[in-house]
Amino acid sequence: MSESDLYLRYVLGEVPIYELHLRRERHIRCNPAVAQYIVDPAFDPVTCPGPFGKAELDAEFVRAEEQRITRAWRRLQVIPTLGLSLEQYPLEAP
Ligand SMILES: [Zn+2]
Repeated sequence: MSESDLYLRYVLGEVPIYELHLRRERHIRCNPAVAQYIVDPAFDPVTCPGPFGKAELDAEFVRAEEQRITRAWRRLQVIPTLGLSLEQYPLEAP
């Protein structure tokens, strides 16, 4: 689960719980448009080429996305140790 793009987006509140078993699963690294915003020493940086790459986007937007998505990724890494129910995985708004 720590490498799941689907669960990362569930933690972000972007995938509703009832769609978890319906949507296609993929690795976080296989979705560079999202993975590029994970900035953590424990995560090998991902580059997203093309118009959705960080280099092409507004710096303020990029900073906000890095905070939002890195926070969710860090939570995803520790969720197995937290003893939470599935309903408790998503982050509350900061
Ligand atoms: Zn993959």
